Amino acid sequence: MRVETNCGLGSDEMYSIYTNYKVRDLHDFMKSGKVANATYLGEVNNRPDIYEKVSFNGKTYVVSMINDSKKLSFAQEIKILEKGTEFEFEREVVCPYCGSEQSDSWELDGSDGEENETYCGTCGEDFVYIRNIEITYSSYPK
Ligand SMILES: [Zn+2]
Repeated sequence: MRVETNCGLGSDEMYSIYTNYKVRDLHDFMKSGKVANATYLGEVNNRPDIYEKVSFNGKTYVVSMINDSKKLSFAQEIKILEKGTEFEFEREVVCPYCGSEQSDSWELDGSDGEENETYCGTCGEDFVYIRNIEITYSSYPK
């Protein structure tokens, strides 16, 4: 049984975590806290932060959305790559923590070979990326 306490804000706020949500249901979720077509994972004892990692059934999920009035949050399953994983010469920047491809890599700054930092849009970790620019030429007769 769950016991409600009224001793103010703080550490004993339970939040329910859901996953496998459909993008089209997120609007209702954020507006009214209505949970549809999602899988219930369990509860956490504190308000989670965005990008906080939570574990259920041996899997790791990252919190991507929170509705404070309903004390619900959505999380998506992520991979945790081995420490020290590196990616080289990929078409998009790939997060070395969870392996997710960063869309819109072209929006990142960087000259050829220069090291820059960004964060993963999936798991929230900071990492270093290097843009490699390859120049090719085409030609045709006048
Ligand atoms: Zn990541």
